[in-house]
Amino acid sequence: MLNRKLLKNFKWTLKTAINDVEVTRLYPEVMMELPDNERGIHELDATTCIGCASCARICPNSCIQMVHFKFGNPLKNKEMQFPQIDFGRCMFCGLCVDECPVECLKMGKKVIMAGWERKDIIKGPEFLATKNFSAKEVEDLEAEAKRIASEKAAAKKAPAKSGYEPIPGDVKKIKPGAEMVCPRDPAHLKTRLSSVGQRCPDHDVELVRADSIKKSGD
Ligand code: SF4
Ligand code: SF4
Repeated sequence: MLNRKLLKNFKWTLKTAINDVEVTRLYPEVMMELPDNERGIHELDATTCIGCASCARICPNSCIQMVHFKFGNPLKNKEMQFPQIDFGRCMFCGLCVDECPVECLKMGKKVIMAGWERKDIIKGPEFLATKNFSAKEVEDLEAEAKRIASEKAAAKKAPAKSGYEPIPGDVKKIKPGAEMVCPRDPAHLKTRLSSVGQRCPDHDVELVRADSIKKSGD
């Protein structure tokens, strides 16, 4: 009787041994398949992050801090500030991801994170960024950003040509279809608009009615 009971207890062991049934995994060498919507460690696309800090503001646990990172995009992120996440406080709710206006932050499938000290689980953009620029690319982008900034500054400083006079009174009373020009250089841009409030792409000033400029020269 005892022998029969013993054999019964060994039944499952023998069955799995013979049939090669997987009952354990060699974690961490062999990871289980994670679902696509897994909320793992965040992944950041530093080439599109605009440094708006919306993720940091929405985080209910205040675990996001904006820090400097030199391999982002200076054309999109002028201050070069990117999120750093304290995973010791993160509850992986995903609110920061939902809030990101350019969808450059997502939750990845990486889940292993360990450290000897508390600071080891505070991860900056150099760890989170799955996409970033090289030092050479950043140099080129910075040069481009400087060129654009100096062009804008020069356009702002350029003296207004004689004959420019802003439309007196309420600018919103302009009739749809009036001829609109750049007040800095009426010859350089002429257009017809059905609404007001459009700006000259070169001089960054609001377009004005062409006849208002003519009147000022009379
Ligand atoms: S997942 Fe939630 S708790 Fe974690 S950083 Fe984002 S908003 Fe904060
Ligand atoms: S990750 Fe998104 S929300 Fe956070 S700073 Fe960058 S652009 Fe803004």
